[in-house]
Amino acid sequence: MSAKAVYIHIPFCTNKCHYCDFTAYTVKGQPVDDYLTALDREMRLVTTEVPPHTIETIFIGGGTPTVLTPEQMERLLEMIQAHFPNRSPQLEFTIEANPGTTTDELLKIMIAGGVNRISFGAQTFRPDLLKRLGRIHGVAEIEQSVIAAREAGFQNISLDLMFGLPDQSLEDLHHTLQSALSLHPDHFSCYSLKVEEGTLFYHLAQKDELPLPSEDEELNMYQSLRTILAEKGYHQYEISNFAKPGKESRHNSIYWLNEEYYGFGTGSHGYLQKIRYANVKSVAEYIRIIDQARRPVSESDIVTEQEDMENFMILGLRMMKGVSRSRFQSRYHKDMMDVYGSVIQKLVDQGLLKVEPERVVLTEKGLIFGNEAFAAFLI
Ligand code: SF4
Repeated sequence: MSAKAVYIHIPFCTNKCHYCDFTAYTVKGQPVDDYLTALDREMRLVTTEVPPHTIETIFIGGGTPTVLTPEQMERLLEMIQAHFPNRSPQLEFTIEANPGTTTDELLKIMIAGGVNRISFGAQTFRPDLLKRLGRIHGVAEIEQSVIAAREAGFQNISLDLMFGLPDQSLEDLHHTLQSALSLHPDHFSCYSLKVEEGTLFYHLAQKDELPLPSEDEELNMYQSLRTILAEKGYHQYEISNFAKPGKESRHNSIYWLNEEYYGFGTGSHGYLQKIRYANVKSVAEYIRIIDQARRPVSESDIVTEQEDMENFMILGLRMMKGVSRSRFQSRYHKDMMDVYGSVIQKLVDQGLLKVEPERVVLTEKGLIFGNEAFAAFLI
């Protein structure tokens, strides 16, 4: 197995959103140029150890990669090109962006550097909710940014939306969906709010000052957005992802197919030569370790065949097409039913899975209670 995908993390944002527990730091005062130098060195170190073959997907995530200045963006794209020159003609090259941060100059540089997919964190179209989330943009910036990206030449635009937000009603979500649909994006990622420890929202929740919708209301929102997006021609291909035909995220599919990928930058994860690894989260530590010509890895695990099979099932079942029995057979030289027959049968009996001749997939019920189904595959 050789890695065909590259993830690069830019851990800087204009400010920190109130619900965010990603590896992301307010950009003001950060050593961004030194970070880019360190990224360049990390790519050299890793690609010397694990030389790349043809790359199918690249994903620059964050943080907010579009907080880079035009010069920094140009430099980043040039270094990615230098370390990964061998690219598929169908390369999918995504960048994450926040509305309001994509100037025309930046868009031009990204297009010239080969980026062909842009994913905007829109989250909601209710102005007061955007403020409450700590987002830096308003509704107008979402609309302007999508239009500007399309005019600059992006033909593959994704929007991230959130539901289950404080004081959010089903009607609010419908309004958000209508506004988002009027921009005709190619793809949607829709996630429910998770209140993570260490965030401002967590502290508010502890003090009982975060009025979240009930579980039933959140479930209604999920079902409703699935129905509306399906009606508008966005087919659901993963628990949280919806696309126009042919616009499914190929990069994320590599994760769900349990294939290997390079991961660069603070807090990023990678999977190379049967080893899963995670990088250190602190920017200063990342730069310091790379200055010593070492890889900035904080954790690494050799993945056993047993663990790999578990990952294959758990990640693969997230996709609506489920897990392929023939792919399992060719990867492990074992029949999926010989390894997981009893687990699968138990989940079928619980109404969470269904078995098709070539695939095993989540049922409608399994889609809602996915975590129960996934846990059953862990030994
Ligand atoms: S823009 Fe994204 S990564 Fe940055 S703080 Fe907000 S949620 Fe976190």
